[in-house]
Amino acid sequence: MKIQAAVLYDINAPLQVETLDLASPQPNEVLVKMGAAGVCHSDYHVINGQAAQVLPCVLGHEGAGVVVETGAAVTSVSVGDHVILNWLPHCGACFYCQKGLTNLCTAYHGPVWSGTMLDGSTRLTNTTGDSVRHLSSIATWADHTVVPAEFCVVISKDVPLDVASLVGCGVTTGVGAVLNKTKVEPGSSVAVYGAGGVGLSVVMAAKLAGAANIIAVDRVAAKGAVAMQSGATHFVPAGPNAVADIQALTEGRGADYVFEAIGNATVQAECVEATRPGGTVCFVGLTAGGTTTPLNSAVLVRQEKHVVGSFYGSAHNPRDFNTYCDLCVSGHLPIDDLITHRYSLDQINIAIDDMLSGEVGRGVVMFD
Ligand SMILES: [Zn+2]
Ligand SMILES: [Zn+2]
Repeated sequence: MKIQAAVLYDINAPLQVETLDLASPQPNEVLVKMGAAGVCHSDYHVINGQAAQVLPCVLGHEGAGVVVETGAAVTSVSVGDHVILNWLPHCGACFYCQKGLTNLCTAYHGPVWSGTMLDGSTRLTNTTGDSVRHLSSIATWADHTVVPAEFCVVISKDVPLDVASLVGCGVTTGVGAVLNKTKVEPGSSVAVYGAGGVGLSVVMAAKLAGAANIIAVDRVAAKGAVAMQSGATHFVPAGPNAVADIQALTEGRGADYVFEAIGNATVQAECVEATRPGGTVCFVGLTAGGTTTPLNSAVLVRQEKHVVGSFYGSAHNPRDFNTYCDLCVSGHLPIDDLITHRYSLDQINIAIDDMLSGEVGRGVVMFD
């Protein structure tokens, strides 16, 4: 079939929205009509070359839609199902899966990082006959996509697809860091560096967990209002006074939990400073490969600070996707408030520029 998709041909080039040929799903694959697709910083890391990807490639790794065709061997999803596309499926059998650490399963890393189906081939061809990759094996910036059945998580039809699309990456990353990884307790103080889609998801989850003090930190002052709407109790401008401001709001100690939702080594080090003795720093944002973060190790020893990482919200999918969707529908996790901008696929380059400006909570591409 012919589809419209946003294709990256060269590092730092604008995306080309063009017609591609999408082959039919193979026996273990599923054709999904996209409803909505989020615009995430990790897509930009592919555009700027920080994340290596064979090109040309259809980008987009957050998305939700409706199943319109299934391969002959597919039993896990049916035509008409609403699904979130999940770029980190797990095998259920390896050492990590057996321990319940399903986000550490590497069974699908090969095709996901190279942007192919599980057999190493692609289903996309451009008008000049070149094969085109599928980012994260899901390629959500397209009106239709073929994905391996393992990458579909069936959700309730009560969940709006724009909300569901964000659960596929940004929301799960932020909410899971709070609920799964650090297990923030009621009454805690929480600081979050970066009030984009992931950071605001941390804010919402901290509120859900009963945190008493939720301090959002961002370089863009306009983010303050969005953060407060998501549940922050205070907003602190990023800069040389941020640590002192956080300490002033926590009786001089620093926050019990500090989350870094940007992926910047300097900010990560500052997060350790902003944490109270005995507190926990959680790195959620992904730095470029090979990045080293300077940490004052004497402080870590003397003040017993915990430094942890959380990948994809330390999540167990599909359990957590459905939990977060249910919490949204019941009003406990206002994911819809994150969506500050909506775009058509033709506006994808504008959506990326808006994200980079820092003015956006989360932008979502909507399909008909
Ligand atoms: Zn993402
Ligand atoms: Zn596994």
